[in-house]
Amino acid sequence: MAERIETDLCIVGAGSAGLSIAAGAAQMGARTVLIERGLMGGDCLNFGCVPSKSLLAAAKAATDWRRGAAFGIDGAAPRIDWSRVRAHVAGVIASIAPHDSVERFESLGVRVIRAEARFTGPEELTAGGATIRARRFVIATGSEPLVPPIPGLDQIPYLTNETVFGLEELPRHLLVLGGGPIGAELAQAFRRLGAGVTLIEAARLLPKDDEEASELVREGLIQDGVRLIERAKAVAVEADPAGIAVRLEAAGGQDRIAGSHLLVAVGRKPTVVGLGLEAAGVEVEKNGIRVDERLRTTNRRIYAAGDVAGGPQFTHMAGHHAGVIVRGALFGLPAKVERKAVPWVTFTEPELAQVGLTEAAAVREGHAISVLKSGFEQSDRARAERAGAGFVKIVADPRGKVLGATIVGRGAGELILPWVLAMQNRLDLKAMAKVIAPYPTLGEVGKRAAGDFFTPRLFGPGMRRIVRLLQRLP
Ligand SMILES: Cc1cc2nc3c(=O)[nH]c(=O)nc-3n(C[C@H](O)[C@H](O)[C@H](O)COP(=O)(O)OP(=O)(O)OC[C@H]3O[C@@H](n4cnc5c(N)ncnc54)[C@H](O)[C@@H]3O)c2cc1C
Repeated sequence: MAERIETDLCIVGAGSAGLSIAAGAAQMGARTVLIERGLMGGDCLNFGCVPSKSLLAAAKAATDWRRGAAFGIDGAAPRIDWSRVRAHVAGVIASIAPHDSVERFESLGVRVIRAEARFTGPEELTAGGATIRARRFVIATGSEPLVPPIPGLDQIPYLTNETVFGLEELPRHLLVLGGGPIGAELAQAFRRLGAGVTLIEAARLLPKDDEEASELVREGLIQDGVRLIERAKAVAVEADPAGIAVRLEAAGGQDRIAGSHLLVAVGRKPTVVGLGLEAAGVEVEKNGIRVDERLRTTNRRIYAAGDVAGGPQFTHMAGHHAGVIVRGALFGLPAKVERKAVPWVTFTEPELAQVGLTEAAAVREGHAISVLKSGFEQSDRARAERAGAGFVKIVADPRGKVLGATIVGRGAGELILPWVLAMQNRLDLKAMAKVIAPYPTLGEVGKRAAGDFFTPRLFGPGMRRIVRLLQRLP
């Protein structure tokens, strides 16, 4: 007979969102069921953040080696052993996997079911032969690679983030379709590890990011030897003696690029097929499951979290969603999703980090803005480390409220944190300019940008007059 489970919280998907919710809920005493049909840890651990950052780290090690001469260190060119690079990536995944494992979650008191879940009604789902009724459900089924309907693509073997990290051999010439963060990161990693790489993008590289900052990433990729083809649309894919060829259409005419492998990285789509969402009364929109600001779906007993909820698709957003849902589902608190102080990082070299509005988005939204920009060339630390180009750009309103920050350059992902804090806590540029930044650090560049907001007032004629007047006092 089918097992019937009654529980407080039932979560579908053990990726970044589902795991965080399950860990929080179980440790707070809620009876929790977690259902996963694939690998524990989901995309981030197995096919996303962790393998991509590990591969980039190997690629950076090779590049740092090549750049030793600038510091007076010479040596033979690095020899890259792809099988050991792969072992490094697999080793990093294996070192994190216990944290996301069935054993760990069972030790926290979570009932883990390794099966595919499907709603059979608004208050019930089935998984692995069990029927589960819960006070609250969470759909945390993530997203999957979007494969565009390009003629011929269904006839040839292509790679996605789910297969590219498992390649037995380093590609001779990797064609990367898509110049968003995933395409840019993987293009640089594979190039630096010795593959020929051509990146094809229909718009411009990193189209959602600040254009000036993306320009520095573009220069970085080109310097590494990536061939970049922007504003070109892939209109057909076909077999070629070299392996695979992509036919392109651009304003300047047509082109055909051949390579040994093709990586499709043009976007993501929410994983909703087969979940029985109609039976559950859960509506789906283009970008994902329809949710309100508390992440409740159109069925108030069911929440959605992480990539499937249609917002910015990052592991840190999945973690943030977990906090919102634990407060809402367990305590009935009206916690809301943060929409403004949301950071994201592209881990290329130079790194590109953003929080809040870019300059262009602020203008588009009709804000009156001050733009404050300070370059890495003014940083003694950047000089000492030959850190290359970079800048901090702050977008503020006329009263100094931070609307957004863009940082491009070494360590941008680390340097963005104070700006996230500033936005979330409504700190203004005065607070950011007053901070004592340790010398010599790249953090000084951000402080300098904030200080520039006050420069006209501090060193203008008004201040000069006041100072001269005060000096006449006894
Ligand atoms: C190449 C790449 C690099 C990335 N790098 C970064 C990065 O550096 N930083 C960052 O913040 N984000 C990064 N991301 C994004 C990040 O991986 C995702 O935002 C995150 O994994 C989303 O977590 P999730 O829990 O929503 O979904 P997932 O991690 O996808 O987990 C969903 C889980 O649900 C399971 N599931 C689906 N349907 C069912 C069902 N019917 N029954 C049972 N189980 C089901 C799936 O098997 C999966 O394990 C990257 C993504 C990619 C692809």
